[in-house]
Amino acid sequence: MAYVYSIDIEYCKGCGLCVTVCPKKVLELESKVSSKGYFPAYRARPEDCIYCATCCRMCPDVAITIAEEKAA
Ligand code: SF4
Ligand code: SF4
Repeated sequence: MAYVYSIDIEYCKGCGLCVTVCPKKVLELESKVSSKGYFPAYRARPEDCIYCATCCRMCPDVAITIAEEKAA
């Protein structure tokens, strides 16, 4: 099963919780500020992501979604 991972930077407030809880150290905060004035999270090492969804559950702003990839 393939998954599509996305972080909505319009919702992300750059709190860093997801960065802290990721067991694979996939996530980091951007060094560039978003239009909202925050440093949003991004997957610095997507190849290491195991799609455990821990980051999704921890995000207080529900900015992270993991969805099943639709068949083409
Ligand atoms: S799904 Fe799991 S491994 Fe992937 S970024 Fe989130 S916490 Fe890390
Ligand atoms: S937990 Fe949510 S709001 Fe906080 S940095 Fe991660 S994606 Fe952004």
